[in-house]
Amino acid sequence: MTMTRPEAADGAERRLPPKPMPLQENKGLTAPFWEAAKRHELVMQRCKTCANWIHFPREQCPICFSQELDWAPVSGRGRVYAYTNVHQAQHPAFQEEAPYCFAIVQLDEGPRMVTNIVGCEPDDVACDMPVVATFDDVSDEWTLVKFKPA
Ligand code: ZN
Repeated sequence: MTMTRPEAADGAERRLPPKPMPLQENKGLTAPFWEAAKRHELVMQRCKTCANWIHFPREQCPICFSQELDWAPVSGRGRVYAYTNVHQAQHPAFQEEAPYCFAIVQLDEGPRMVTNIVGCEPDDVACDMPVVATFDDVSDEWTLVKFKPA
């Protein structure tokens, strides 16, 4: 991956060294999510007391405050709740992929998650569009959960 910066002073295309993608250093509470993603499975926490689905991972249920939580697979199906198409990435590691779609997807089970919509042009994304999870192995260690049109 090579970045270019077109505004180089001499007008020539300036090549920059690749910037590493920022990744979480301490998985901690979220480890089961990332381990499942690596297996190309989408899991979320579920409260054993009130059956509420929970995402992002927490120490206790935000509905009933129970700390009896478990991890369970979800369908991977949902709909685009909100999105924006990014043309100017906030971090250089992502600029090469621009334009890309940054989205919030609401899963059929209820939780919303921050993700990217892939597998179509960003301009083809729309709110309420049905999507399904897909897995992007960005390194040997990390897999990101993204969504594509269903
Ligand atoms: Zn609960």
